[in-house]
Amino acid sequence: MRVLLLGGTGEARALAARLRPDVEVISSLAGRVPDPALPVGRVRIGGFGGVDGLRNWLRDERIDAVIDATHPFAATITANAASACEELRLPHLVLARPAWDPGDAIVVSSDVEAAQAVAHQGFSRVFLTTGRSGVKVFADSDAWFLIRAVTAPNRDVLPRHHQLVLSRGPYSYEGEYALLREHRIDALVTKNSGGQMTRAKLDAAGALDISVVMVDRPPLPAGVTTVGTVDEAVAWVADGEVQSR
Ligand code: NAP
Repeated sequence: MRVLLLGGTGEARALAARLRPDVEVISSLAGRVPDPALPVGRVRIGGFGGVDGLRNWLRDERIDAVIDATHPFAATITANAASACEELRLPHLVLARPAWDPGDAIVVSSDVEAAQAVAHQGFSRVFLTTGRSGVKVFADSDAWFLIRAVTAPNRDVLPRHHQLVLSRGPYSYEGEYALLREHRIDALVTKNSGGQMTRAKLDAAGALDISVVMVDRPPLPAGVTTVGTVDEAVAWVADGEVQSR
């Protein structure tokens, strides 16, 4: 049995370790970050070339099932995988970690709306954690930003007033609390990524009464089978949803 595991998340690495050696797992990474954390087993890196490329690859590699454990905001690859699997009638599962409860956060549906919310609310010292690609919408803002990302955004998209911190989670509550206080942050801008790796910033913001602007998740493709945990994904495979060809 051969499974394509679309990854780039801690859950995908945990799932690869759990499925082997009974299942032949090929993990796939986009290749966005230098020196990525690698799962155990076979790994391929780089895009497939859209839906057509993915469909051809699945056929050529004689894949029996696809498990999409990509980040909840990786909507393009998730849509492509759903389409390719439907066309090939391949068993397909999405492992999507549960979303955070937004609580009192200002919930918006895009990075653009997050930038509008920051402007309308008059926030002046913003902790921006929406990632490299989420920075450009703030380029014209007059606020000051503490920008945290795994890889540096292009210089021409950076807002006038900012400090850049390059790092990768997990982050501790104590560390996030100290960071928010040290920089006198008045608003945290975050995606609703879910999970424990990066949630300490929300708890610290709550304790310090700092406003939160939260970008809501893109919707999943209609009709896909979805689970929220690695255990459930292991059970999906074990329950025989995947038949070797
Ligand atoms: P995306 O917008 O959904 O995908 C853009 C393109 O990147 C896809 O069309 C595909 O190229 C390629 N791609 C994405 N994930 C891939 C994978 N696992 N294996 C092979 N190709 C992949 O994705 P994204 O938001 O840029 O995220 C890229 C990767 O980073 C994902 O694997 C995701 O799990 C991880 N990640 C994303 C975030 C986030 O906030 N978006 C956060 C943490 C980790 P082709 O069309 O050429 O196949």
